[in-house]
Amino acid sequence: MSYDFLFKYIIIGDSGVGKSCLLLQLLDKRFRQKHEVTIGVEFGAKPIEVDDLNIKLQVWDTAGQEAFKSITRTYYRSAAGALIVYDVTKRESFNSVQTWIEEAKQNGNQTMSMILVGNKTDLESMREVTTEEGKQLAKQQNILFIETSAKTGDHIDDTFIISAKEIIQKLKNKQI
Ligand code: GDP
Ligand code: MG
Repeated sequence: MSYDFLFKYIIIGDSGVGKSCLLLQLLDKRFRQKHEVTIGVEFGAKPIEVDDLNIKLQVWDTAGQEAFKSITRTYYRSAAGALIVYDVTKRESFNSVQTWIEEAKQNGNQTMSMILVGNKTDLESMREVTTEEGKQLAKQQNILFIETSAKTGDHIDDTFIISAKEIIQKLKNKQI
């Protein structure tokens, strides 16, 4: 299929927050209960339509290096967008967000669109981070915000649509 734009995306955030599950939901509408450490580079492609444009998403999942909080420059290279993921039931993963954003700013393109993603909203009774806190942090960092469930598939497509819209807008304004 032909497309108007190809956007490379990267998914970052602490281990266990649901990055691989987010990718699996986006590509296959599936969920897996087990936490399997991603080894090597894992990525997938998916076409979406945004603002009458055919966009091909090429999404890269961290290759298990997130435990060391250092992901190579190659991973960030030419990424148009980044998902910074935390687990709404794990305060610690939210506390790490700042570090991930800094790393992304250091290694990514200046124009890279970032969206803060609070995942696992299906576990409402175990929630440790409120929606308001997520919103505030995103606002403070001047990045987009959304909450998702990689289990139910809630807002997974929306995450990429919202972010792709921002990238398209930047392209139209010649900011990229
Ligand atoms: P990663 O290390 O960030 O890639 O995390 P994974 O995608 O491997 O997920 C870690 C664990 O969290 C696995 O046991 C998943 O089944 C679980 N998980 C991921 N996303 C969700 C979610 O939205 N809801 C629930 N309940 N569990 C999730
Ligand atoms: Mg993973």
